[in-house]
Amino acid sequence: MMQQIAIIGAGIAGLAAARKSRAAGHACTLFDKSRGLGGRMATRRAGDWQFDHGAQYVTARGPRFRALVEEWRAAGQAAEWFDGAFVGLPGMSAPARDMAEGATLVTGCAVTGLRRDGAGWTVLTAEGPADTPANGGFAAVVLALPAPQIPPIIQSAGIAFGELAGVRYAPCWTVMLGFGAPLPWREEYLRPDDGMIAWIARNSAKPGRPAGKETVVVQATADWSRGHLEAMPDAIGAVLLPRFLLASGLRAAPDYLTAHRWRYALVEQAADMPCLWDAAARIAACGDWCLGPRVEAAFDSGEAAADAVLNGI
Ligand SMILES: Cc1cc2nc3c(=O)[nH]c(=O)nc-3n(C[C@H](O)[C@H](O)[C@H](O)COP(=O)(O)OP(=O)(O)OC[C@H]3O[C@@H](n4cnc5c(N)ncnc54)[C@H](O)[C@@H]3O)c2cc1C
Repeated sequence: MMQQIAIIGAGIAGLAAARKSRAAGHACTLFDKSRGLGGRMATRRAGDWQFDHGAQYVTARGPRFRALVEEWRAAGQAAEWFDGAFVGLPGMSAPARDMAEGATLVTGCAVTGLRRDGAGWTVLTAEGPADTPANGGFAAVVLALPAPQIPPIIQSAGIAFGELAGVRYAPCWTVMLGFGAPLPWREEYLRPDDGMIAWIARNSAKPGRPAGKETVVVQATADWSRGHLEAMPDAIGAVLLPRFLLASGLRAAPDYLTAHRWRYALVEQAADMPCLWDAAARIAACGDWCLGPRVEAAFDSGEAAADAVLNGI
């Protein structure tokens, strides 16, 4: 029998859970506090500028995710950047929309809690029940969020997952630089060993990016980001721009500069289980924090959560 499933978080884990649940014939509603889909597999657009400011590329080791990346490739939604590193086309978030196909989308909706109403679940926001037709009748709920964001929501439902306590994330300050003309620079990416910058991507060198401009993404190390977590974005840009110029050997002033803080960027300590499932409440929790700091781990965890739900409803 078709059931209604609520999935909170439309990053790759939530999208994987929705895709698998839909394929099994159930109806899904995806809630996300952002306006877009994809979570940390993200593309930032500002005017004519476009940056992959979260995940830089995906790798596919297991057969399930390899098959999905192959589908993305066949549909023109992804291409290989370098040796087994695939990027979305024209940006990292591009494959997300197809993964959500057939699901009801409730975006711009920050979920704060869950309430049991008879046999079903109601999804709550700070303003009250979320405004979507199936609300109140969800047979199961999947929480596909970074681990630290799950406890306040499940507490309201009267359940707890003790495994969340051991999960640890590293933060990441990311600086996006836009230059109006191509730079005299051949590198596709750099990993400077300077204790401050972990990774520099020549974003505009990825396949399918807009031509004629140069965009660069600079990601700070976990330690440096942690030490500057509460700094203002302008101050982060002012420090990391000269470090980028030093590392690249370039002399150029950017036409666009902004910084973004990812408080929960990369999993440092995972729960080491595919997902969590409370059979009595019919609530699952999943995300990269279950298996490791990669898009593929989030995908595998989302599929595992869907399996738990499909076996349990
Ligand atoms: C800077 C950076 C670089 C990275 N580089 C790589 C890389 O090169 N390769 C790689 O494989 N991985 C990389 N990763 C890791 C990868 O992006 C993540 O592991 C993966 O995208 C996590 O997916 P997820 O679905 O578990 O979580 P997320 O993508 O975080 O999705 C969670 C979703 O929940 C939503 N949400 C949160 N709270 C609420 C709420 N209360 N109500 C509703 N919605 C909510 C969020 O808006 C988000 O869309 C990188 C991550 C970062 C930040």
